Amino acid sequence: MSTDMIKAEYIWVDGTKPTAQVRSKTRIISRAEIRNPPVWGFDGSSTNQAEGSSSDCVLKPVEYFRDPLRCCGLSPNEDDSIMVLCEVLNVDMTPHESNERGALVEVYEKHKDKEPWFGLEQEYTFVDLFGNPIGFDYAVQDEDHEAQPQGPYYCGAGAGRAIGREIVEQHLDACIKAGIKISGINAEVMPGQWEFQVGAADPVTVSDHLWVARYLLERVAERHDICISFDSKPADGDWNGAGCHTNFSTKKMRSSLDACERAAVALGERHKMLIENYGEGIEERLTGEHETCSYEEFKYGVSDRGASIRIPWQVAKEDGGYIEDRRPNANCDPYVVTRLITETVCEMAV
Ligand code: ADP
Ligand code: MN
Ligand code: MN
Ligand code: MN
Repeated sequence: MSTDMIKAEYIWVDGTKPTAQVRSKTRIISRAEIRNPPVWGFDGSSTNQAEGSSSDCVLKPVEYFRDPLRCCGLSPNEDDSIMVLCEVLNVDMTPHESNERGALVEVYEKHKDKEPWFGLEQEYTFVDLFGNPIGFDYAVQDEDHEAQPQGPYYCGAGAGRAIGREIVEQHLDACIKAGIKISGINAEVMPGQWEFQVGAADPVTVSDHLWVARYLLERVAERHDICISFDSKPADGDWNGAGCHTNFSTKKMRSSLDACERAAVALGERHKMLIENYGEGIEERLTGEHETCSYEEFKYGVSDRGASIRIPWQVAKEDGGYIEDRRPNANCDPYVVTRLITETVCEMAV
């Protein structure tokens, strides 16, 4: 291949219901196009985004990242492969109905002066091809040769406690190389369950980066023949579900506990609507057990991990900071969640 040509991986969110999936395909573009990759298209009838009879959908590039998976040493420098995050448009260039990003951009523009920031805690679970969690097979065992109950796994170290760490580390490196605003990782409460955090950043950036980080996770795990589940309740029984705790602040909230409390109250007033938009299967996860508050009630409190919204203790002490909405599921769409929170708090509270 001529060194004038580079690989561009076009990435988009599809129309799979109830939970969208991320898709990608490669286009070889010239180095001159790297800052302005061409608009492209795909067959929407294969991604739940169109009927076969008029199947074309448009890919409009909106964000660019270095491609950390293609830095294989064969290329002359590390910047010569990129990932291109796209919005999906109809052929008349209007946003496709599956495109939740367009609506978020509008809401963000409207409330930009309030400086909304988000930090997202993405939990996920390693599963086999059938969708069964694999952590139990590798977990420390009790006398009955069953995985030990929850306890040793969260932030654990050692075989049987930190299950799948190699993939987790490779994903972290990939995100950092790509320029994703990843801010941390930790092993979670259920065996084979982990979390990474993205942000804090504005709602559009944090959501774009979360989608690309999810994509990279699928790609890294693919190399190990392991699947990723964003299912919010991957194992029945006495095991934690998987969430996407959403930390949020505005300029005012960052210096006022009172503004943080008003934001929490506003998010309580729209509780039912929010629950309906926080990801598939949320009723099975928000049971009131396993560090959750039941979906049927709303409460907020300082340091309370059994509340719908937690105000971290430092925020009470320092009179300002952020709030943690603990309700969103791991399988939520961050474009939807950050839009609804921005809209609710900026219209009703601050
Ligand atoms: P937890 O104690 O709930 O596990 P984490 O450390 O996993 O918390 O995640 C906290 C998240 O909150 C991080 O992504 C961080 O970037 C984010 N965060 C910190 N300060 C703010 C802020 N002022 N506004 C929004 N998000 C913030
Ligand atoms: Mn966390
Ligand atoms: Mn967590
Ligand atoms: Mn949290």
